[in-house]
Amino acid sequence: MSDQSFEDAYALIKQIKKHGFQAYLVGGCVRDYLLKKDINDIDITTSAFPEDIKTIFKKVIPVGIEHGTVIVRYNQVSYEVTTFRNLLNNDHKDDTVNLIADLSKRDFTINAMAMDESGKIVDMFNGKTDIANQIIKTVNSPYERLMEDPLRIIRALRFSSQLNFDIDRATLKMMSELKSEINHLSVERVTIEIEKFFSGTYLKKGLKYLQATEIYKELPIFKENYHFIEHLSENIQPFNRFSEIISYFHLINGTITVNHWINTWKLSNTIKNESNNLIRALKDYEINGLNTLLLYHLDINLIDSFVKVVDMYYKVKLIAEDLLSQKQLLVISSRKELNINGNDIIKLFPHLNKGKWINEIIEDVEKAVLYKQLKNNNYKIKEWIKCNRQEIN
Ligand code: ATP
Ligand code: MG
Repeated sequence: MSDQSFEDAYALIKQIKKHGFQAYLVGGCVRDYLLKKDINDIDITTSAFPEDIKTIFKKVIPVGIEHGTVIVRYNQVSYEVTTFRNLLNNDHKDDTVNLIADLSKRDFTINAMAMDESGKIVDMFNGKTDIANQIIKTVNSPYERLMEDPLRIIRALRFSSQLNFDIDRATLKMMSELKSEINHLSVERVTIEIEKFFSGTYLKKGLKYLQATEIYKELPIFKENYHFIEHLSENIQPFNRFSEIISYFHLINGTITVNHWINTWKLSNTIKNESNNLIRALKDYEINGLNTLLLYHLDINLIDSFVKVVDMYYKVKLIAEDLLSQKQLLVISSRKELNINGNDIIKLFPHLNKGKWINEIIEDVEKAVLYKQLKNNNYKIKEWIKCNRQEIN
């Protein structure tokens, strides 16, 4: 998120205040501001209700009205604006009391600060000190806060992986004790946090905590494959997408199919397609090394992922830029660019019934063109097919 977004957020706050309400930046954006890190998204907490916000701004999207949350769109950026948490259930008039109550319901001290448009920070739970000491600590009693929402157990791990912070001793002990509560959470919520955990710059630190607390014993798939986490390679690196996680662990245990990963972790079709594409390339690499067909089939957006998993698993350092330029030099970049199609082939063999053979011929042509044994020319390809018909059949 850009500095402009921060300036815009201040403008939003001023606008809300003009209408007689209180409003603050809150949570992760205040933490990341203090850490001088890139901000992921900006949350605003306010004494205004969603109906009030709707009258103040033009573009308001209701996303969780029952939780008091709306999205305000401003200069093409989304800001999540939420009413002070306790204001929804009681009508306490004192905004300061309401702000403190809101902050006290947040997960960790580092996430429980609010900041106004002048940069003044409200810090009731020593969040600043914990940031300075690089500590993740629950707001108030670890037992109560982790029981209240066990997702916080996983969030603590992901913040240690993203920020290189230590987990406070009492918080860590309770995370370990209460880890089985994770099983009551919806998988979708866990997936979001685990994806962030695995992509953390300081993943190795997070993994040490994951190992020490044995929290992996409560996570889908990992709970049946302890060795995934117990015997992790020293070579492990942050995974930028879930498909990298799936591909890496698929190399370790191929009996767990991509479909199983997708269904168990409730992942998208995009992740499924990415995983299948990556695994195809990795398996080809294992047998044949880097080759033309592999580069042809490997999605251009997955080159970095491929290089990373090859490094982690096969301990071979490929260079993504080299792969990219080799891929760009290929005669064709997709089947669409082949100067022949299914209909042309059917016409060549009018007596044959349609079937798998058509695709098989196209694959052979594709390969011959890619390896420059055949020109990508409609006439030449047809001649080549007729010539090679015996072999093709
Ligand atoms: P990110 O940088 O990934 O956005 P974040 O800390 O902003 O990290 P969000 O999930 O965006 O995390 O949540 C915003 C804020 O809402 C948090 O900083 C925290 O104050 C509060 N929060 C989020 N999830 C929880 C939770 N499960 N329990 C308590 N407070 C939470
Ligand atoms: Mg956030």
